[in-house]
Amino acid sequence: MKSLRIICAFLLLIAVFCSCSLDSKYSSEFFAMDTVMSVTACGKQSETAVNAIADEINRLDRLFSVQNKNSEIFRLNSEKQLNPSDETLELITRSIEISSMTDGAFDITTEPLSRIWGFYSGLENRVPSEKEIKAVLPSVGAEHIKIDGSTVSLDKSTSLDLGAIAKGYSSGRAAKILEENGISSALISLGGNVRAVGTKPDGSPWSVAVTDPDNSSEQIGVLSVKDRAVVTSGGYQRYFETNGKRYHHIIDAETGCPAQSGLKSVTIVSQDDTLADALSTAIFVMGLQKAETLYNDNNDLFGAVLITDSNEIYITENLKDSFSSYHSYEVIKA
Ligand code: AMP
Ligand code: MG
Repeated sequence: MKSLRIICAFLLLIAVFCSCSLDSKYSSEFFAMDTVMSVTACGKQSETAVNAIADEINRLDRLFSVQNKNSEIFRLNSEKQLNPSDETLELITRSIEISSMTDGAFDITTEPLSRIWGFYSGLENRVPSEKEIKAVLPSVGAEHIKIDGSTVSLDKSTSLDLGAIAKGYSSGRAAKILEENGISSALISLGGNVRAVGTKPDGSPWSVAVTDPDNSSEQIGVLSVKDRAVVTSGGYQRYFETNGKRYHHIIDAETGCPAQSGLKSVTIVSQDDTLADALSTAIFVMGLQKAETLYNDNNDLFGAVLITDSNEIYITENLKDSFSSYHSYEVIKA
């Protein structure tokens, strides 16, 4: 899995190398938040900015990590009450808002479920019994998080995992650092989270591939974007197989099991990196029909490319002019 991410990051870098003038380009690849990340920027301050981004993402990882014993989230999960930093408080608050926007499909309290399915490093992937799942479900749900001023409290058996939103928040911060350094042309890739900053140096939009969920070295289409986050969630990104059955890492909080909504990949395009990350996860859980309703109510906030289990491709109307593909696809109208 790690090698696949390295190949994807490498392909992205090639795209940038080919379009940046040699003297002003700087890129870096690093491992953080359990994934390979890469940033390439064009501009005078590119080296300073890219190095500052790597530092910033490591700093955020130390706040949000569910496994780092010193992180704020780890401390909150163990002590059940904490006065976290403004940023952690902001991200928890935003997560709760997006939970209610998506009828609970986005749910940062799925941590105990991810744990019994063995989706954290150091644990073994396994299919838990129905009894184990039933024992955990009562502590899952945003209603088990209380925020009073700057204090966050969790119910006794509730724990948080910001893994579906932290990379989005981080790419937003990275874009801000580039802006502060006067960089108007860059590509950020934090695992499945891509951020196109400005345009290519020649003024044309960036091309971001939508990966074929059945063959990660292939693409099913390309999005032409400027100043947008492009975030993909898919069952193919992290999974294990037992007795010929595949179990992926995105959990449906209703059932306590990997989501089976009929979608195998969801790509969200938005100006808001944090929202894009959260919605790609949520819509993966919600499925096509609920995604259409969500789009109808919020077509100014995001666009989506959805791939169903039977390989149909759907794109929202607001991406009509930016998506190209050799495959046929349906358009979801607002
Ligand atoms: P992403 O790759 O952004 O779709 O996020 C997937 C990760 O988010 C998983 O590896 C879990 O850590 C966590 N997660 C799993 N299910 C959910 C869910 N329904 N809502 C929010 N986070 C989740
Ligand atoms: Mg996500």
